[in-house]
Amino acid sequence: MALERTLAILKPDCVRKNLIGEVIRRIQEAGFTVRALKMINLSRVDAEGFYSVHRDRPFFGELTEFMSSGPCVPIVLEKENAVADFRTLIGATDPAEADAGTIRRDFADNKGQNIVHGSDSAQNGRLESNYYFPEVEIVSNAG
Ligand code: ADP
Repeated sequence: MALERTLAILKPDCVRKNLIGEVIRRIQEAGFTVRALKMINLSRVDAEGFYSVHRDRPFFGELTEFMSSGPCVPIVLEKENAVADFRTLIGATDPAEADAGTIRRDFADNKGQNIVHGSDSAQNGRLESNYYFPEVEIVSNAG
């Protein structure tokens, strides 16, 4: 199977809870290669742009307020079957429904503040990676 790219974001609740290291440790232990990462503050407009697919959903305001409430850590990850495997690692959107041992089940407070983002398709994995990182900032010789 070909290598695939997915975008993770350690959300502001992950940063506030001092879980950056623990979550990246789990990600690397699961076999993902880190190709790019940084810590940034998203503006409300940045968050609205990233989540524009959800603009008509009732939680859009809450989501974009949360995502711009403090620093977050976008990370480009690569692995075979990265998109599906990463979603398995993080668990269901609602931590109460997430499998035991998943990152959201172990660390998230609720469906909105759920610690980590993961792309939902290979195409979005590439598009979302380039939302935060121009291609020159994504390394090809890590791991
Ligand atoms: P996922 O991040 O698991 O792919 P979605 O794409 O459905 O989930 O939603 C994107 C993000 O929007 C979620 O990770 C969560 O932060 C937020 N969200 C989703 N549903 C709700 C909800 N009912 N109430 C508040 N926030 C929500």
